[in-house]
Amino acid sequence: MLPSELVTRRLLLGRLGSGAGVVGTFLLPASLHQAMAAAATRSARHPRAHGAKPPAPLVMLDPGHGGKDPGAIGVSGTYEKQVALATGFELKRLLEASGRYRVALTRAQDVFIPLEDRVAKAQARGATLFVSMHADALSDHSVRGASVYTLSNTASDSQTAALARRENSADRFIGRNWHGTSPEVARILASLVRRETRVGSNRLAHSIVDSLDHAVPMLPNPERHAGFVVLQAADIPSVLVEMGFMSNPRDEAELRRASHRIRVAAAMKRAVDAYFAATAHVAAIDSAQRMPG
Ligand code: ZN
Repeated sequence: MLPSELVTRRLLLGRLGSGAGVVGTFLLPASLHQAMAAAATRSARHPRAHGAKPPAPLVMLDPGHGGKDPGAIGVSGTYEKQVALATGFELKRLLEASGRYRVALTRAQDVFIPLEDRVAKAQARGATLFVSMHADALSDHSVRGASVYTLSNTASDSQTAALARRENSADRFIGRNWHGTSPEVARILASLVRRETRVGSNRLAHSIVDSLDHAVPMLPNPERHAGFVVLQAADIPSVLVEMGFMSNPRDEAELRRASHRIRVAAAMKRAVDAYFAATAHVAAIDSAQRMPG
């Protein structure tokens, strides 16, 4: 299935179908109604087995860097790529232990993976969430603490802009094609999907900041945004977490300790729980409002 079809089907059948979509169908042009009907027909050809439970949501964890790209290197020689992978494994273990999620990693070894391939993996697997894990460097070595980033065309501040430039330097921007749809419909679909994804990403970022704030030191204004390539998936709520900065000796020392990495992972797991709990709550209210009488 082409990524664009995946996006279209998810939007039309998943999000709007569940009532989560904020745009009433009465606002949509006839051409979009036709696209929705076509998508519904496609879906009807592959009905889910009667009574089968939908699969648990898939959380795609993305340990930053790897292989020839070490990421930031701390003052005592710690590689960001190692901290990211170790914490990724810990978070995977915690999420899976809850029995509520399926979890995949964009990399489970010390290998280089281009940024766009990380996004493509999440889309190919049909991920529900995408969480990129990092511990980068800033030019000001006194700056420490965790922070969480969502996608935006403009950076929230110059520190974040520099961070995104560093992160993106290896890769090119990801484009999106909407095969088989008219340009007008494609544009509307893209904007609907992006809006819903942005809402989800912000909710997830907020939840992670909330949770980390109870567990580890935080950067001032820890919820930030910039044009990170790895957050470009149009259809998957995505965040990038800087668990601390390798450029700060205290952050580096803490991230070298397994007990600290477990604390970070546990906080992120609680944030994922809170995200899905809120999603279920919204869906329950929505379906209650749809009940007749
Ligand atoms: Zn990084």
